[in-house]
Amino acid sequence: MKKLYIITALAIGLFILWVGTGSKSVDSVPTIAQTSLQFDIKVLLIENASKLSFRSTADYSIIDCKTTLVSGAIGISNFVNIAVESNSLLLGFRNTNARHVILKPNGEKPFAINDNHQYRGSLEIIINPDGKTFSVINNVSLEDYIKGVVASEMPSYWEAEALKAQAVAARTYVLYIKNRFGKNRNWDVKATQANQVYKGMRSETLRTNDAVDATAGMVLTSWQNDWQVFPAYYSSVCGGHTESSENVFGDSFETLRGVDCPWCRFNTKPSLFFWPDAIYDKKFVSDAILARYPALKELESIEKIEVSKQSIYSGLARTTSLKLLGTSGKTGFLRGEDLRLTVDPTGAKIQSTCCTIISLKKDILFISGKGFGHGVGLCQYGAREMATQGNNAKQILDFYYPGNRIKLLY
Ligand SMILES: [Zn+2]
Repeated sequence: MKKLYIITALAIGLFILWVGTGSKSVDSVPTIAQTSLQFDIKVLLIENASKLSFRSTADYSIIDCKTTLVSGAIGISNFVNIAVESNSLLLGFRNTNARHVILKPNGEKPFAINDNHQYRGSLEIIINPDGKTFSVINNVSLEDYIKGVVASEMPSYWEAEALKAQAVAARTYVLYIKNRFGKNRNWDVKATQANQVYKGMRSETLRTNDAVDATAGMVLTSWQNDWQVFPAYYSSVCGGHTESSENVFGDSFETLRGVDCPWCRFNTKPSLFFWPDAIYDKKFVSDAILARYPALKELESIEKIEVSKQSIYSGLARTTSLKLLGTSGKTGFLRGEDLRLTVDPTGAKIQSTCCTIISLKKDILFISGKGFGHGVGLCQYGAREMATQGNNAKQILDFYYPGNRIKLLY
């Protein structure tokens, strides 16, 4: 009797479980079409354009985002110049009487802007508040966006497992940035080093696309974010030890704590691992910093730069905060990365903050430098070496993002 009771209870339980999961799969699991919309990325290609050419390989629709009216350019020409006149967008000779339009090639065909880069998805044009210039945004699916990023951020001939790790890191990063900042602006990410370099379809290769396809929908999560995505930063060469995110960007995640990296020193060419001394005119440094950070204007002019905070590892010291002494006698503070990218925005000369900074009478010296980039998260050259030595993408990601958990979005 007791046995029968248990069997009956088990059967009812199983039935409820079956009904439960069955109804869930019908009602609440999004379809692929829904998920792809949810994960579309808005990439800011140009912030202040005054003119632009658009060329589509197919007919395209023009959508007025205010009225959602759709008009076509069918059969006329697949090439059009875009400009602004009296706070309204001109497409060729046609005044759209709109400030915000989307140009969408039919049949998901690619398009080009200024006859240069080629993109998938659609092109969104929004007149800026100045009424004279416009923002140029590429609306693209997450996977197509990642294809353009991996091909721009890592050489396509690198090991497949390193390319896969790069794809997962880039996908994780962009979703975090989109969720955190995208709601408050017309776009999610910039197409530059400010976020991730994205050069669209023309940069894609078979090998990088394979890495994206093999990891489709795969992201990393952190327990501190309730097992949601975190900003999975990455940089070129850490120099021997990656840096904790809180010391560079201020956001603290266990998955972004610094780890000893024995890998990048093996395969990074010496001129990239140890960079040549850089010398900058002190007035140039001072002017650049004060122009970018008006709050520091009370310093009048920067006389001396001293290390305020440093992370010391064996054979490596990364400056994370600097003290600025002004001619007015006042002092100010600046993050190491902010100083570096203000003085040398491309990072080509001051490759990292793992260097000694010396203030001379007229110049500022950045000497004995090591590594390339901010050093947080995955070390790209290290990832390449790990892959060369037989590690797979998961092992690479687990090494550089300790404690992460992989999640499949779709
Ligand atoms: Zn490294």
